[in-house]
Amino acid sequence: MPAEPSKTATRNRILKSLSSDDLRLIEGDLVAVDLPLRKELEAPRKPIEAVYFIESGFASVVADAKNRGMDNAILWMILVMLSGIIGLIIYLLTRPKGNLIACPHCGNKRMQVSAKCPHCGNT
Ligand SMILES: [Zn+2]
Repeated sequence: MPAEPSKTATRNRILKSLSSDDLRLIEGDLVAVDLPLRKELEAPRKPIEAVYFIESGFASVVADAKNRGMDNAILWMILVMLSGIIGLIIYLLTRPKGNLIACPHCGNKRMQVSAKCPHCGNT
């Protein structure tokens, strides 16, 4: 008989909320990784290759919001911090849509369709 998956082994609230049967279904695919600073966890129009269940630390929408030229990036971060996955879904549905490209002047990401870079102001 397989060992009972341990909900106490994780600090992630989503994983902890799964039933033992549901947790057992994905347990073999869970791999612990250290995420480097500023790792992009998702990108529009790219296949989702991994789902991250954050155990500790902080995942932020600030960089993405700034790259998309949103003036209220800090407010979005606070909303996501307070509301969790619901706030993140609202953010992902309401943020400006489009491809991010590297700015040829400063190297930071910017919307391909934006008139000027939100980081350096160049066109
Ligand atoms: Zn720039």
